[in-house]
Amino acid sequence: MPPLRVASALLYGFFLRCPRCHKGRLFRRRFQMRIACPLCDLWFERASGEITGGMGINAVVTCLLMVTLALVFAFTPRLPVGLAIIALIIVGGVFPIVFYRSSRGLWVSFLYLTGNHDEPD
Ligand SMILES: [Zn+2]
Repeated sequence: MPPLRVASALLYGFFLRCPRCHKGRLFRRRFQMRIACPLCDLWFERASGEITGGMGINAVVTCLLMVTLALVFAFTPRLPVGLAIIALIIVGGVFPIVFYRSSRGLWVSFLYLTGNHDEPD
């Protein structure tokens, strides 16, 4: 698979567009994902457990961000510890909500790229 096609599909998924036609929107409302693309009929949520893939991406990215921030705070001795803890709590609580839709879009792109979007259960 050409790397440009992979990057394109992941980018469109990240920005909440269909990875196949690049035009259909992934979400009907703020947190309500469509089952399939309204333009090309690509399945976004083929099975009820599809949400776990996006949640996994979200959890991994959030953990990486938290560890990176903790390391930055640990090696910045002049920063007050209370401020660092508050920043970590805010980032850990807000980032997963903000990143939720994009993580679901990335999972749809992953399924599309691997051909798992049309396999039966
Ligand atoms: Zn589409």
